[in-house]
Formats: sequence, structure tokens, C-alpha cells
Amino acid sequence: MIWKLGLISFLLFIGTISVRAQYINTDELVIVPGEFLPLSISEIEKRGINLSGSSYDQSLTTGIMLSKFQFPVQNKIISRFGPRRGRMHNGLDIRSATGDTIRAAFEGQVISSRYYYGFGNLIIIQHEKNIKTFYAHLSKFIVKSGSRVNRGEPIGRAGNTGRSTGSHLHFEIRENNHPYDPELIYDYKLGEIRNDVESVKSLAQLQRRLIPKGYSVNEGVPQYYTVRSGDSLWRISRRFKMSINHICNVNHIKESSVLKVGQALKLY
Ligand SMILES: [Zn+2]
Repeated sequence: MIWKLGLISFLLFIGTISVRAQYINTDELVIVPGEFLPLSISEIEKRGINLSGSSYDQSLTTGIMLSKFQFPVQNKIISRFGPRRGRMHNGLDIRSATGDTIRAAFEGQVISSRYYYGFGNLIIIQHEKNIKTFYAHLSKFIVKSGSRVNRGEPIGRAGNTGRSTGSHLHFEIRENNHPYDPELIYDYKLGEIRNDVESVKSLAQLQRRLIPKGYSVNEGVPQYYTVRSGDSLWRISRRFKMSINHICNVNHIKESSVLKVGQALKLY
């Protein structure tokens, strides 16, 4: 009996070693649920990412958490969220001089503080409610991966690293890895948090509420849009700040589909 238990433990031990060895030897990039970029096992261990759930206060509602938003750098928006030059621009570009202080939008944990192609020096902060914020093109990091940060705490300095023309901050907010317009939360014109924010259960819900009001396109967005002469999917997507992909999905059409004048297109 004892030798049997011994044999089983020995086999389990060997099994564990071989599984671990497999990871250690290859150090392949793995997709971590809720992570934007693939990570290596050593990175996951180094950052102390908890794959089984978060330790945050779950009693806080998403709306209350979002209503504490702090704008990362007070300056002019030079490029907004939405379709741009044939692709989606997943964030806001905010003019900032190299060296300007960039601040955390909410409290959270820094899960990335390194250079990425395109983003340049990038900080990603994990917040409560599966929300992350991205701060790109930085010239300097103030915080390291793994650090806890408070809302408004300096995390880096603005810059022009990565694919960027001129010093600016590229700022993104994502919920379950899906990017949302930061202007859904913050009314840039009035310089305040929007009234709808506090009562929502998610950013997705906030978007559904605000799109019909045309929160940032200066006109209410109708649920159905009637195609006019000269319209194209690209033009409509730009006008209502929606991706062509989204319009195609809700209407079950392809990007190559020909639009007819008078045709009703569903927008949400
Ligand atoms: Zn940008």
C-alpha cells in the first residue's frame, strides 16, 4: 500500500516537473484572458497576474468607479476616437509636450511598463471591473510593472516614442479588452464627468445610452439611417463614429456590399 502511494506521488512529481519544464524551456507567448498582448510565462510570474480573479472591492459599481475618472493630462484633444485613415483609432490623442506629467485615470495596478512596437513606451493599468487604461508614446516611465497606483498619481512623462508624429499622449480605455471612447465618460467641452456615468453597470451600457444622444458627433445618432446619394460605408462610419465592421455586423452585410439610395441601415 505504502509503496503504491509512493509510486503515485513519484509519478505526480515527474508529471509536475515535465509540465513546468515545458513552460520554462519554451517560454512561448500565451494569450491570457483579459490581456491585450500575449505574455510569456516569466512575464506573468514577474507581474504577479492573478489568473483566477481579482482582489478588488467588488461592492463598488462600475458607474461609481468610472465617475472618479481623472483626465490623464489636461490639454487639447488633437485626434478623437473613431474611424481614421481607414482603421479604427482606439483612443484619444491629447497634445502634450515631451516631459509633461501623465497621471493615472483611476486607481489600479500597473501590468505593463515597457516598449511596444507602435505604442512606443506604453503603460497599461488594470483597474476594477475588467477595465484597463493605456498610456502610449511616453518618453519616461515613473512607475514599474506591478506597482499599485492611486487615481491622479504621476505614472510617466509624455513623449513621441513608437509610431507617432509629434509629442502627444495616446490614451485608451478598455472594458473586457474592448476599446471605448474616453469621451463617453468625460465631456471634454464642459470639462466634467457626464451625468449618465454614475448609474451605469458597464462602459458598454454607457455607450448604448449615449450614442443615440450623439454625445460627440454634434447630432443625435438615429437607430436607422437612410442612405443618400454619395454615401459610402466609410462616410457613414466616419459621420457617426462607428467602425465599418460594426455597421456591417448589425446589418448582416459585407464591406464590399453596394449601398442603395433610400436603403435603411441599422446603426445600433
Ligand atoms: Zn492615438
